[in-house]
Amino acid sequence: MDAPRKGLATRLLHTAEGAQPGALPLTTPIYETTTFVFDSAADLQAYIDDPSDKYLYSRYDNPSIRALEAKLAEAEEAETAMVFGSGMGAIAATMLGLLSAGDEVICSAAIYGGTLHLLQSFLPRFGVTARFLDLEEMRDPTAAISPRTKLVWFESPINPTLRCVDIAKLAAACRAAGVLSVIDNTFATPYNQRPLGLGVDLVMHSVTKYLNGHSDVTAGAVMGRRELMNRLVPSRKLIGAMLDPAAAAIVSRGLKTLEVRMAQHNANALGLAQALHGDARLARVHYPGLPDHPDHAIAAAQMRGFGGIVTIELAGGFDAATRFFDRIGVFQRAASLGGVESLCSLPVLTSQYGWTDEQLARADVTRGMVRLSVGIETLDDLIADVDQALG
Ligand code: PLP
Repeated sequence: MDAPRKGLATRLLHTAEGAQPGALPLTTPIYETTTFVFDSAADLQAYIDDPSDKYLYSRYDNPSIRALEAKLAEAEEAETAMVFGSGMGAIAATMLGLLSAGDEVICSAAIYGGTLHLLQSFLPRFGVTARFLDLEEMRDPTAAISPRTKLVWFESPINPTLRCVDIAKLAAACRAAGVLSVIDNTFATPYNQRPLGLGVDLVMHSVTKYLNGHSDVTAGAVMGRRELMNRLVPSRKLIGAMLDPAAAAIVSRGLKTLEVRMAQHNANALGLAQALHGDARLARVHYPGLPDHPDHAIAAAQMRGFGGIVTIELAGGFDAATRFFDRIGVFQRAASLGGVESLCSLPVLTSQYGWTDEQLARADVTRGMVRLSVGIETLDDLIADVDQALG
C-alpha cells in the first residue's frame, strides 16, 4: 500500500532541500543554513569525535565559512585562518582566547582606536591590562616586557601616520622573550606584506577593508599556525563573533581580485603622493613610498608595494582640514578605507575620535591630518580633485 500523501506544508518544507544531485558548482554555494542534518545518532557521534569534515551549527562552522578561510590562509601563507563578524570581533576573540586575568598586553600607542579602547577601557575590567609604547620603544620592546606580558600587538604601516616598524626585528624580540606577537595587517594586506614569514605569530585583518575591497561587508580574520589558532575557537563560538555565510561568499568573491585591486591601489596612491609631495599648500605628505618618509627604508625592505593610503597634513590645522574635507568631490567623505572607491576621512573625528591631546601626540596624530583611502579611479581625476580641494 502506498504511504499516505503528506500534507502540503510538510511537502513544501522537505522537497528539494539540501545538496542537488549532479550540480557541481564552479563557485562555492552559499550554505544559508543555521544548522546541519544528521542521519542518525551514530552520525552525530562521528561529528563529535571528529568535526573536521562535518558541520553541526553555523555559529561554529559552515562550508561557506570554511571556503573563505581556505582562501584567507592561502593569502597570508598561513597554516590556518579563522573569520569573524568584524575586525573588532577578530581582535576581541583573539585577546579573549589568548589572555587571562593578570596578563598584560604591550601595544603600540599608535594603533587603531577600537583596539586602543578595548585594551584601555574594556579588558582591564576582566583583569587584563595594557601598556602603550611609543613608536621608538616599540621597535624593540624587550626592555618593556615583564613577566606578566603575554602578547605584543602592533600595526605596520600604522593608521593614519603610516609609520612602519621592522616586523622581523620586533617578532624576533618577542620570540626571544617568550611573548606572542600579533600584527594588524589591515593597511598592508598580504599582497604587500606577509608578516608570518617574518616571524610574527598571528596576523589579524579587518576584512571589511582591502580583503573584501568593495565596502559592502563587515568582517574580520586571524591567520596563523593551527596550534595557536585552536585557542581562538572557543572564544569565537562563545562570544558569537562568527560571520554570516552569505557575507562569507561575498568576501570570497572580493578576494579573487585582491591582486589586481592592490596593484592599482598601490600605483594610484604612489602617484598621488608623488604629485602632492612638495606642494607648498601642505605641511606634509605621509606615504611610506616617498623617499623622505622616516620609515621608507624599512617599508621598502619588507613591503612589495606601499599600500593605498596617503595621509596629508594641512598647515592650518583642524580648520584647514575641515575646509578641505568639505570641498573634496571625487573622494567621498566617509570613515573606513580599502574599498575600490576613494574615501576621505578626518582621523580625529573617526579612527582617533575621543583621544586626548597626549594620546594623539604619542601616536603622532595631528588635528590637521586628512586620511585619503586611494581607490582605483583614474589617477588624474584623483590628483585634480585634491588640487581643487586645496584651493
Ligand atoms: N584595524 C584597523 C587598522 C582598522 O582600520 C579597523 C577599522 O577601521 C579595525 C581594525 C576594525 O575593523 P572592523 O571595523 O572591521 O571591526
